[in-house]
Amino acid sequence: MTALDLPNYQDVIRASAVLDGVVNRTPVLRSPLADARAGAQLFFKCENFQRTGAFKFRGAYYAIARLSEEQRRAGVVAYSSGNHAQAVALAARLLGTHAVILMPADAPMAKRAATEGYGGQVLTYDRYKDDRIAMAEAFVRDEGRVLLSPYDHADVIAGQGTAALELLQDQTDLDLLVTPIGGGGLISGSALALRALRPGARLIGVEPALGNDAQQSLRSGVLHHITAPRTIADGATTTHLGDRTFAILCRDVDDVVTVTDEELRETLVFLAQRLKLIVEPTGCLGAAALLHGKIALRPGQRAAAILSGGNVDMTALAGYLAAA
Ligand SMILES: *Cc1c(COP(=O)(O)O)cnc(C)c1O
Repeated sequence: MTALDLPNYQDVIRASAVLDGVVNRTPVLRSPLADARAGAQLFFKCENFQRTGAFKFRGAYYAIARLSEEQRRAGVVAYSSGNHAQAVALAARLLGTHAVILMPADAPMAKRAATEGYGGQVLTYDRYKDDRIAMAEAFVRDEGRVLLSPYDHADVIAGQGTAALELLQDQTDLDLLVTPIGGGGLISGSALALRALRPGARLIGVEPALGNDAQQSLRSGVLHHITAPRTIADGATTTHLGDRTFAILCRDVDDVVTVTDEELRETLVFLAQRLKLIVEPTGCLGAAALLHGKIALRPGQRAAAILSGGNVDMTALAGYLAAA
């Protein structure tokens, strides 16, 4: 096996220089009520306010910015349940190239419409049947496009790490960082920043209970594959970690915990009602783990969760709020 091109903290710093002035430096919000519920001090890094509505714009922009002239002429291709799609579409347009996006046919309408609005060319596939990777590879072979993995890519991981980098610059004394896990790009990038700036802090990932492949992978030390989970956390329906994200997870992540869809719904409504934040179900994973006692916290500890995105379909949002 050849050695993986794993990114490091210097890559996160390089990414942050490229992204400076391009990404939104998102706020870190607090809530006394959330603190009281968790019995600790909570900090919410609001990537729901990021461009395209999720942290994925960071990795997509940095990865495309690093392509050669020739690669940018050929364009890029990506597969995504939604947020990577929007991120790649906008980043491609800003950087003067063109994106083909493979999207599950049942992706939220809002995500598909937004991707097309950013100039991406959307093609759909069946997430329970089709091999999206093989479909994407056909575009690489036939059109010379560059395949941008949503997570198993050194530049994408470095770019995603800039969210935690900002958080750690704003809040230097964290004891714990909690992030969602899909394919593991966000937590891997976060690990690079955290282990450099706050090495003693705990790093915990959160998955939907029905799709705990990363938890199984971390605990067994073997990369687990599962069938696509049916969960409202549509950004975390990945079937397995990447080789790079698995390697970083095993090295740097302390634990992976899970939350139920019911706990996600409750957290989504809590964040809307109390913090006035619109956060999509996947973006609620970290906050749900903190608010529902999935992670041991001592009084006074400082725990941050990355609210990773806010792209929830308005009809679905109305349903969550009405049912509460
Ligand atoms: C993609 C995504 C995740 C999961 O990120 P990974 O890098 O795949 O682990 C979490 N939340 C949102 C909103 C996402 O779009």
